[in-house]
Amino acid sequence: MKRNLLITNAIIDDKKQDILIEKGKIVRVGRISSSSGIHLLDANGKIVLPGFVNIHTHLDKADLISRMKPEEFGGTLEQNRELIKKFKKNYTKKDIKDRAKRVITEMVAMGITAIRTHVDVDPICGLLPMEALLELQEEIDIVELHLVAFPQQGVLSNEKRDLVDKAVSLGANLVGGLPLVEHDRDGWRKHIDLIFDIAAKYNKDIEVQIDESNDPDDFALPLLVEKTLEAKFYGRVTATHVISLSKIEAKEAKEIIAAMKEAGIKVIVTPSANLITRFPNDKKVWGYNSITRIKDLIDAGIEVAIGTDNIRDPFFPFGNGSMIREIHTLIVATRMTTPNDIEEVFKMATINGAKMMGLNYGISEGKKGDMVIFDTDTLIGILNSPEKINYVIKDGEIIYGRDERK
Ligand SMILES: [Zn+2]
Repeated sequence: MKRNLLITNAIIDDKKQDILIEKGKIVRVGRISSSSGIHLLDANGKIVLPGFVNIHTHLDKADLISRMKPEEFGGTLEQNRELIKKFKKNYTKKDIKDRAKRVITEMVAMGITAIRTHVDVDPICGLLPMEALLELQEEIDIVELHLVAFPQQGVLSNEKRDLVDKAVSLGANLVGGLPLVEHDRDGWRKHIDLIFDIAAKYNKDIEVQIDESNDPDDFALPLLVEKTLEAKFYGRVTATHVISLSKIEAKEAKEIIAAMKEAGIKVIVTPSANLITRFPNDKKVWGYNSITRIKDLIDAGIEVAIGTDNIRDPFFPFGNGSMIREIHTLIVATRMTTPNDIEEVFKMATINGAKMMGLNYGISEGKKGDMVIFDTDTLIGILNSPEKINYVIKDGEIIYGRDERK
């Protein structure tokens, strides 16, 4: 039986308020007097936000760096994909679950209360990672966990396509995609067609990892938009990364963004991983890898959310599960530094991700009791004292407390 919880002196939308949570749900927000039998938690005039939503990560690959040799760090995207294949051959269900659980626990301590993870489904690892993560999804109650069946090696063979189909039939929440693994434009198109077929068959939404480099020729987004409109999958498709959109002509970008809006396509950025990714053809388009046209997308009314992407694996050897780091990286990389911009970026890491996951979320009556109490009273304070989180609350239960950590 869940205790009732009254959080007092919380800063919400710049006002001091109290939050009453009963049976895991918020029942009142305002100035509330305490009554007997209620557990009290004083937020001490500090800011309270709904829990961070890490909308894009790869828990099946998390925390593999201890298996990497020094010379294996810093590879290109292709080299990293080869290295992952090697690691996958030794996967066991326990190994996958242990690593995923470890990283989830870290994410929770960083204020994350919901996670959407891609899970590799391919002929090397088969359905093992999906089976492991489906078990974990059942067992774990400290986060909301959604799974995307991710065809890391493509879908252009019966075996590969059938594996993704099977993963979705087993219970994956979404169908994933990675068209660029298919080598040419015709392959990209077929890949997109096939994942839409599976999504339609099981009535699932789609998240496609697409256009991960600065190269304007590495641009499959128009195919995805076209297919979304043709299949009438309005509002059900998310494009993750879309980096090359930032390198095409402004006029062309405007047109494609308008078509994305018409199709209701949403966008996910993974700031640190986007910036760090290397490509064999990096020399063709000079410059460090970049981030999509965030401002243009927002101005067009497209929903944008943030994920950490990989945590401590060949693709991204760093990470501690902090969304605050990702917010900071995005602000720095895109110069979104006005108070309104900063608020917008925090929204991407919270409300926007929650909407994409379809969560009953936010600090208002009737919503789930998922929130974070920080050790500061402003959003800039959160960025300037990163990882200073006093409490994390999930379904009205305190699941992480700094004092309890000592
Ligand atoms: Zn990813």
